[in-house]
Amino acid sequence: STADIIVFAGVWFMAETAKIINPDKKVVIPAGKAGCTLADSMTGEDVKKLREKHPGVPALCYINSSADVKAVCDSCVTSGNVFDIAQKIPGNELIFVPDMLMAQNIDAELKRRGTPKKIISSGGSCCVHDKYRPEIVDKLRAEHPGIKMLAHPECPIEVCQKCDYVGSTKGMASYVASSPDKTFGMLTEFGLVNRLEAEHPDKTFIWPYGVCSYMKKNSLINTLEALIDPRPDQVVTVDGRVAVQAKKAIEKMFELAK
Ligand code: SF4
Repeated sequence: STADIIVFAGVWFMAETAKIINPDKKVVIPAGKAGCTLADSMTGEDVKKLREKHPGVPALCYINSSADVKAVCDSCVTSGNVFDIAQKIPGNELIFVPDMLMAQNIDAELKRRGTPKKIISSGGSCCVHDKYRPEIVDKLRAEHPGIKMLAHPECPIEVCQKCDYVGSTKGMASYVASSPDKTFGMLTEFGLVNRLEAEHPDKTFIWPYGVCSYMKKNSLINTLEALIDPRPDQVVTVDGRVAVQAKKAIEKMFELAK
């Protein structure tokens, strides 16, 4: 961004990433210092201990993690590049944090590609995506013959394995845009569904449930407050040493994603 101030209307770990990449800019987050179930499931200390138990094993962290966690991992990944980077990282073992459900999906995808690795995972899950169950896929298929089911890799593996497409927000949007099909079952956060409905008025999106209460803590009023006179907890700061290390993991991701 060329602006001097970045307003990040997401959750804290996202705003931290914006600050790490733009250290000279003021980054504010309307919702204040609120994490989420996934990013709060593990600290950098937890990851250090896990790495000590598995010396020499490369460690990847999902971008939905705190700066502390990023700082002690070799590379970050996004939901869009996670499978390719996990495959590319050398070795037969891989530490993946902090999304335990995504770790199961990596394991399955690498086996499917014929390049299996032992995935050592720890952490928690996204409280939006971990609520989906395989039965919802069966129900929507029965109710909407011909429906294409899409899931995010933060969903449980039993759900993903029943879907037609598993991928990132961007991946799901591309799938919908290039598909001749008309009805899509969306197992992801409502924000994407809302956007796709506006972009594709000729298509129908069936969304069973899934709203992130953490992201919804940003409102017009606190966005205005953060812009005009931010409270101290709305101003994003990252410890200098942590920021330098976390930036290396983010840059490594860009290098590996090429
Ligand atoms: S949807 Fe909400 S709870 Fe899930 S990872 Fe994103 S911010 Fe966290």
